[in-house]
Formats: sequence, structure tokens, C-alpha cells
Amino acid sequence: MLRTHTCGELTEKNIGQTVTLCGWVDTVRDHGGLVFMDLRDRYGKTQLVRSGAVTDYKSEDCVQVTGTVRARPKGTENLKLVTGKIEVASDAVKVLSAGAPLPFEVQKSRQTNEDLRLQYRYLDLRNPDVQKNLFTRHRVCQTIRRVLDKRDFIEVETPILTKSTPEGARDYLVPSRVNQGEFFALPQSPQLFKQILMVSGFDRYFQIAKCFRDEDLRADRQPEFTQLDMEMSFLEEDDLFGVVEETLKEILKDTPGLSLKTPFPRLTYQEAMNRFGSDKPDLRFGMEIKEVGTMVGKSEFKIFEDVIAAGGGVVAGICLSGGGDISRKDIDGLIEFSKAEGASGLAYFKVTSASALDSPIAKFFPAVSQAELVNLFGAKPGDLLLLIADQKPKTLKVLGALRLHAAKWKNIIPGGVFNFSWVTDFPLFKYNEEEKRWDSEHHPFTAPNEADWKKFKPSGEFGKIRSRAYDLVLNGSEIASGSVRIHDEALQKEIFETIGLNAKEAAARFGFLLKAFEFGAPPHGGIALGIDRILAILLGLDSIREVIAFPKNQKAVCPMTGAPSPVSDRQLKELGIKIR
Ligand code: ASP
Repeated sequence: MLRTHTCGELTEKNIGQTVTLCGWVDTVRDHGGLVFMDLRDRYGKTQLVRSGAVTDYKSEDCVQVTGTVRARPKGTENLKLVTGKIEVASDAVKVLSAGAPLPFEVQKSRQTNEDLRLQYRYLDLRNPDVQKNLFTRHRVCQTIRRVLDKRDFIEVETPILTKSTPEGARDYLVPSRVNQGEFFALPQSPQLFKQILMVSGFDRYFQIAKCFRDEDLRADRQPEFTQLDMEMSFLEEDDLFGVVEETLKEILKDTPGLSLKTPFPRLTYQEAMNRFGSDKPDLRFGMEIKEVGTMVGKSEFKIFEDVIAAGGGVVAGICLSGGGDISRKDIDGLIEFSKAEGASGLAYFKVTSASALDSPIAKFFPAVSQAELVNLFGAKPGDLLLLIADQKPKTLKVLGALRLHAAKWKNIIPGGVFNFSWVTDFPLFKYNEEEKRWDSEHHPFTAPNEADWKKFKPSGEFGKIRSRAYDLVLNGSEIASGSVRIHDEALQKEIFETIGLNAKEAAARFGFLLKAFEFGAPPHGGIALGIDRILAILLGLDSIREVIAFPKNQKAVCPMTGAPSPVSDRQLKELGIKIR
């Protein structure tokens, strides 16, 4: 090595030794006659002192330094650094590679415009605050491999050049030169391969897998992202939940000060919707939705009564603790928010005592109804009740969004808490209004709840059929999704038919899976965890781009390489492709 030590390891024990360090010039401070320089590498920082004020190097030059370790003068130690009690006195600084003028200060890269950061990602990644995210990512991946290996999971790579896989997004296509006019699709997930691995008898599979989905980029999406993909044979839901919980428990042990209680709480989809207005409920705080039901019957408030009388309508609400001092302007803000979410209005009541409410519409509610409302929400004087009246699904959806919005606004979501929960029993299908047909809610390989299938399939009440799909939710984000699968060819064909895939199409797209099912397919199921998102949440970061070494920007472009970019006419010709 061109060094005797790294920049993160010299301590008082090394005093008197002659050492050679390599790294980048972090900061230079000229104290008239004495120049202080911090040398930085992946392992840490070491202070160098050079007498004779010649600075022939500058920030981000790559240098090699030889000198003697000595104690820092009393009062100048930096106890936050491992190397904070020593410095290296050196006159021998050799510039290995000089740096060009910098587009931004490395230490402040996170405050820089994101496209510039991504264009000079190598400089951004020198920033220890950015670099540490990738070290955590590395550790998490090692933990995953260790835990799953111990549990007999085998890591298998599946193809990147493959056939369209059905996760509901648009495919990235790769033209074939050898078979002109034909295309590979990049996998949206390894879904079908992992199922085939179960038919192959591997019993337990995992992969830290790249997935590709050509979707319109919402704030926190990337065209390529990483999943921990898993599949097990002969399982019941509890077995898989146990493995995932243990893996996450070990991952959190890597993060100092964090620990996890298992098993994670479980909610059915319907329960999650009724209580939190979301299929990914944030359980770090309460504020549960309550249906107001009979109390409204006693009121003279026409809007509420009409909604209930119309059939299928409900009145429900949430209680914002300490929200009673809200200003008129902030109330208007909450009303606007609710309308943007689809509500026709928002009723509010300030809780003034254990049995009384204050609101422009309070006069329509007899005293007994007011007391009942306070009681229902367990509200205290000074709280604010927010009520919505509409069809049930819309009411729940708006209240779910309002619950999060109001909790963030009032700052009542505790930080540093990691709250996991399972959501189970999702609907098997959702109705596609545009195309007037049923779609799979998860993907079409998800097993139905057997009793529901038998009961509702004959009458065509597809919306009532629950599935054996589950999600894992962390602090209100869906971080994993999976299901027990269909392993019966006939049932699989019926599901394809229900979502409007005729036999011919099904055979063309998934014939190989149906074929495999003819040869003794074991009952199986699995899950995929979004590694980027889990890391971002654990590290308290807003964007998954912070935990990906070379992410694309919000326009699905890589500012560093300039990809995607045009290709030459020759390449297009070889592929038999003409750009329109
Ligand atoms: N393939 C699914 C997904 O990517 C996960 C699964 O069902 O295991 O969401």
C-alpha cells in the first residue's frame, strides 16, 4: 500500500511514529506560519500540521503525506474524532492527483442542487454524510445474506433479459439483434422465475434483485430499484412473516440504539381502512377514525342526514388533540385540503368542555349528541373534531389523508420510532372503470381466499373476494408486498379469464408457468421488500436517491453519464430499428 495507516486510525498510541497517509485534502486553514490541513479518506480524518506557510495543494487534491505523529496541544483536542488527540507534523506532502476547480464544496454537497450533485456524483459520494448511507446499505445486505443463509434460503440470480412480467407497470424493452423485430423485457420483478424455482424444488429462495419499471416518476420512484425477493414452498403466512420479522430485527441491530418488538401487529385490509383510512396505516400515533353513526340521527343537521338517508353514506371523523385553538385561516386550510382529496366539505367542532362543542353548526346538535360525540372520540377540552359525510370509501380515504396531514401539521408524529405492521386479506380484484373489467389488486398469481372464491365466484361478486396477499408497512409506507400463490393450473386459468386474459393470450404470456404447474407444483408463496425505501426510512432520509449509488433524477435521466442517449445509425440498422 502507498500508506502505512488510514486517516481514521491514528491515536495517542502512535505518538512518535513516522507514518504515511493517503487521501483527499478536506480543509486547509492557514494560521500564519502554520498550515493546518485535514486529510480525509473513507475511514476518517486526520489533522496535519505543516510549518512554513506554503500551500501548494487545495481542497479535494488527492495527496500522500509522510510525517510524525504527535499529541495535539492541550485544549485543541477534538474528542469527537478517533484521531482527535493527535496530529501529524509533516513537510512532505506529495500531490498524487490535483483536483480541478470544484462545482460545489464536498462537505456541503447535500445542500447543492440535486442535478449538480448527481452530475458530479463521485464528489458528492466523497462527502462522509453521503458515503455513510452506502456503508449502511452494504451492512444491511450482508445481514440479509447471513440471516437467510442460516435459514436455508438459497440465493439465485434470475435473468435480466427476459419476457414481460406482470407487476402492472410499463416494461423497459431491449431489442434483439439476432432475432430482429423481437424484444426482451427487463424484469419488473423476478416473480415468475421464483415461482418456477419452487416447482424446481429449491424450497427457499432469495435474491437481492434489481427490478425495472417504466412508470411516470413520482417523487420517490426510480426506474430501477432493488428488492429483497423471497419465495418459500409448503408455507403458511405465519412462516414467511416469521422469517421477514427476524431479518428486519437483525437489520435494525446494525443501527445503534434501535430494536424491534416482534411479532409485528396485524390488521386486515378492511380494519386498516376503517380505522386509519389507508391500506398503509401509520401506527406511530393514534387519531383513529370513528364512525359517528346514531348520534347524527338525533341532530337536525340536514347535510349529515341526507348523506345517511341516501344509502351507503356515513359520517365519520377524527379528533385532533390540542387542535381547538386553530385559527379561521388554518380551518380554511383543512377544508381546502379535504376538498382537494375529494370531500364535498369538512365539519369541525372545537371541544369546549367534557360535554360541549363549539362550531358554526353546533346549534343543530342537541346537548346529548354533543356529549356523545366528545365521549366517542375520548376528546378533551381544547381538542378539535373533524367530520366528513360521504359515501363510505370516500369518507375513509379523505379522513385517512386528513389524519396524516393534520398530524404532520401539529407535529404529533414521534420521530425515531419504527413501527411495522402487516396488512392482510387484501381484495383479490379491483374494478377498472376505464376498461370496464376486473384487474388483479396484487398480481394474477395471488391465491384467493378459498371460502370467498367458492362463495362469490359463481355469482360474479368479484369485489367481495379477499386474497391471500399481504403488505408490510413501516411508518405509513408500504415496504413489502407478497402473497400465497396459486399452484393449480386450472385455478390459475380461471383467474386469467376473470381479468380478461383469454386462453390464447394467457398461453402466449404465461404459458411456461402454466406448463410448469402441470408437473407437481408445490404450494408456495413469497414476498418482496423494497430495500431502497427501507434504508431511506431507517436513515431518516426523504428520498431513496440518497441510498442508491448512482440514481436517476426525477426525469429518469442519469446526469453523470447522460443516459439515456441517442445511438448511432449503424446500431439501429443492426437492430432493424428505425426511429419515427
Ligand atoms: N413480485 C411482487 C412485487 O414485486 C412481490 C411478490 O409477490 O413476492 O411486488
